[in-house]
Amino acid sequence: MDEKFLLMIPGPIDFDPAVLRAMSAKTLSHMSVEFAEIFGRALKNLRKVFLSEKGQPFVVAGSGTLAMDMAIVNLVEPGEKVLVLSSGFFGDRMADIAKRYQAEVTVIKAPVGEAPSLEEAEKHLKKGGFKAVTATHVDTSTGVAVDVKALGELAQKYGALSIVDGVCATAAMEFRQDEWGIDVYLTASQKAIAVPPGLALMVVSERAMEAYRKRRSPVLNYYADFGLWLPVMEAYEAGKVAYFATPPVNLIYALDVSLQQILAEGMEKRFARHRLLAQAFQEGIDAIGLKQVPVRKELRAWTLTTAYYPEGIGPELIKAIKAEGVIVAAGLHPEIKDKYFRVGHMGTLTPGDVLTTLGAIERALASLGYRFEKGAGVKRAQEILCPT
Ligand SMILES: *Cc1c(COP(=O)(O)O)cnc(C)c1O
Repeated sequence: MDEKFLLMIPGPIDFDPAVLRAMSAKTLSHMSVEFAEIFGRALKNLRKVFLSEKGQPFVVAGSGTLAMDMAIVNLVEPGEKVLVLSSGFFGDRMADIAKRYQAEVTVIKAPVGEAPSLEEAEKHLKKGGFKAVTATHVDTSTGVAVDVKALGELAQKYGALSIVDGVCATAAMEFRQDEWGIDVYLTASQKAIAVPPGLALMVVSERAMEAYRKRRSPVLNYYADFGLWLPVMEAYEAGKVAYFATPPVNLIYALDVSLQQILAEGMEKRFARHRLLAQAFQEGIDAIGLKQVPVRKELRAWTLTTAYYPEGIGPELIKAIKAEGVIVAAGLHPEIKDKYFRVGHMGTLTPGDVLTTLGAIERALASLGYRFEKGAGVKRAQEILCPT
């Protein structure tokens, strides 16, 4: 296998070698104090990454979809009302999950490239009776970022729990769980947390844990039940061990290393780096002449870019970019699937990666006969990366 490529998809991302090496260390007993020390440190650090002091972290083997499933099944009982703000494929998935668990679901569906209307959300919430409101911080099918802070305020105002899918945002997009009053922020390891696929992660507010304790019916998913995992998470955080189901020991090593790297950079610097690199990449794409899916600049995510193919070019562009050594992703949103491509830029991303990717896209477009000023994208990105 040729290992000289840059993986620029919205997860899995290019992982740091130290994180990958951690996974190959000898597997400890999950019931050993040595492992408890590692897992406990990871849980404490997860809280720092989410900027939550009092939230309850959960780390469970599974993917991001399990984290979505877990948030809904623990906090919404059959027959309760949920308001789902959908900005694309993953918002629709959240609605499917809530329906599967027999919630009464109202969906506010944004047109492709738009964010769901918060005014409309408020109209629904005002009527009362909603147990929870959900949103996708960055919908990976559209590249649209939602104003999570404003959503938190709305949910608090109307007494609904806020559940935010941060799978394509956590540890990259600005997020302050305590300050913004978000009840559940959930993610998966393979995106900006920068650990190979296999972990579902979330931090749950005190208010949401209280709502869990007040449930009247049993949780409809055995493996995902907060109550079965809570003693395990509390034990590991206290440096002790407890068993419910075997944790993925080697992935926890990798998580521990990655969270330490993330905190060594610092959350404020990490947010700022993602914002700057996204701006450089996205304005580079503008300069090449490609139209982006988010309809306004302020809706553009810091973690990925979604761009329409130019006239006369289709998904063959992805292959041509791959031939230049960069892997990008195909479309995902069912309404525009074959009309656009997606580029992930999160986690270990450097200015060099941004320039490499823009360069590869330019050469691929040129090879397919697209006419544009060569170097325009790279030049625009450089102007942003080195302004003086
Ligand atoms: C990737 C992603 C998911 C799904 O995560 P899996 O690990 O593939 O299950 C959910 N929501 C968003 C916003 C995502 O980007």
